[in-house]
Amino acid sequence: MHEMSYIVKLVNTALDSLKDMDGGKVKELFVQVGAMTGLEPYYLKKYYPEAVRGTLLEGSVLRVELIPVEACCQDCGLVYQPTRDYGYGCPACGSGQGRVVHGREFVLDHMVLEMDGRTNESSGC
Ligand SMILES: [Zn+2]
Repeated sequence: MHEMSYIVKLVNTALDSLKDMDGGKVKELFVQVGAMTGLEPYYLKKYYPEAVRGTLLEGSVLRVELIPVEACCQDCGLVYQPTRDYGYGCPACGSGQGRVVHGREFVLDHMVLEMDGRTNESSGC
């Protein structure tokens, strides 16, 4: 269950970037998750509400975008998605010297804020 530690990092990143914004409630948080991370969107979404409880992100929805694995062939420069058909090598030249360029992501892509003008400022009464 390493999802929880990833979620905590993500939430901290999001809260950091919220410091620079003035108000607004977070509606949705979009995260890109590479297929090689082994992270399960199901668990990410399951742990998310727990991780954001009591923060500015409470009540927001986590949206997970899965990023497929892509490799760049060191021999011919082709960017390809490794498949079993080619032994996970380059489909153009057959080289096994592929450098993974996508698939290890775990990044905060963007957040959707709800600007409804109803702030939670204490009115004093
Ligand atoms: Zn190649």
